[in-house]
Amino acid sequence: MNYYLWTIGCQMNDADSQRLASELEKLGYRYVTQAEEADIVVLNTCVVRQQAEDKIYGRLGSLKPLKAERPEMIVGLMGCLVGVRDPAPLRRRFPWVDVFMPPSDPGPLLSYLADRGLIDEGQALEQTQVARRRYQQDQVDEILLPAHQRGKLVSANVSVVLGCSHACTYCIIPYRRGVERSRSVGEIVAEVRSLAAQGVKEVTLLGQIVDRYGYDVPDGPSLADLLRIVHDVEGLERIRFLTSHPSWMSDELLETVAELPKVCEHIEVPMQAGDDEVLAAMRRGYTVNDYRGLIDRIRTQLPGTAITTDVIVGFPGESEAAFERTFDLLAELRLDKAHIAKYSPRPGTVSARKMLDDVPPQEKERRRQALDELQKRIVGEINAQLLGQTVELLVEGKRKGKWFGRTRTNKLVFFQDDEFDWRGRLAPVVITWTGPWSMQGRIKESA
Ligand code: SAM
Repeated sequence: MNYYLWTIGCQMNDADSQRLASELEKLGYRYVTQAEEADIVVLNTCVVRQQAEDKIYGRLGSLKPLKAERPEMIVGLMGCLVGVRDPAPLRRRFPWVDVFMPPSDPGPLLSYLADRGLIDEGQALEQTQVARRRYQQDQVDEILLPAHQRGKLVSANVSVVLGCSHACTYCIIPYRRGVERSRSVGEIVAEVRSLAAQGVKEVTLLGQIVDRYGYDVPDGPSLADLLRIVHDVEGLERIRFLTSHPSWMSDELLETVAELPKVCEHIEVPMQAGDDEVLAAMRRGYTVNDYRGLIDRIRTQLPGTAITTDVIVGFPGESEAAFERTFDLLAELRLDKAHIAKYSPRPGTVSARKMLDDVPPQEKERRRQALDELQKRIVGEINAQLLGQTVELLVEGKRKGKWFGRTRTNKLVFFQDDEFDWRGRLAPVVITWTGPWSMQGRIKESA
């Protein structure tokens, strides 16, 4: 029995897919790379921008004839397209989909398999209950990687805060992932341990606002506490966390990053805009000066840290002058990476309901390109400073005959070595060529 899993969107969706795969593996299903060969096909979806949503409709459309040909094939839809609402409208629109799963919840698929007699009922019941409770209660929770990943997957994502209660005016995530809930320390550590036991060397702890870990629990642990505990997991070499929010990044957190050797010098903290009026309309809760101050604080407390950001261009009311202020802020701060997105009105959000999407598409595209080009130049210059230096790579695998891995600052580096199997190992590499998106290097000869 086989399953096929297609995932689009953020790292949290990757973590949710990993979770679903684990449940299916425990039931004896095996991963295949083609939907045509699978008994179960699941699309794990993202709706953060219209572009992502359109891709899902394309995939759903291509599954329709497959399902007509093989009615016994089970089609599942998971993630933010489903959300935490009643799936009835989706069921009417896509009658060839059998099961609808909210983000992070494989429970409905397990129940469906049990109802169809495809898995042992006792086992299904137990697994469904475990899957449903999983994110709420303290329990030993193991993840089973698919066979092709066991001992091979080097870096994995682990969700630690589910949902989001911040309600930025443009963002659909709180509507689709529900309110903010922190997973328990015990559950997270059990998951990280089981990943490490299967060869994973690096984990990235995820939350929409990961710095708010534990805030929803009375006297809850902080992200700093969690990092200290995860740090003790044997076999783990590196820890990252994302996404941070400028209003929630505490000094305690920065001190902990400085103190713990496995925690990498890499912080993702979206600015979204470099203009106070736009930031207020987005309801981000900070000003440009606050953001500037934060970057300064990170650089003072954690020298050498790579800081990455997200920016939205063409938000309702973003004037040319406001856009230029964003451009100037990016030029001033010289961050290590910026993901630039064009504003996309999302149904139900405050900005879609109350603000006019008044920046024309071609102007949004012009602004996106201008920021992309600026950022490309900045990152090119930052990376050029690494030329001739030795960096430590965690090697993830091979691509086109070359090993590739990431520095502690999350920069991608390729190198050649046909003698040694570097996968999952820390490699000392001398940088021999740099570009904005990747670098090349060679193994440093030991003295
Ligand atoms: N929770 C994080 C945060 O606080 O920003 C990241 C969530 S979201 C999956 C990732 C990025 O998508 C955001 O940082 C934002 O730049 C972008 N995004 C979210 N909603 C958007 C929208 N309606 N239009 C364009 N980009 C959007």
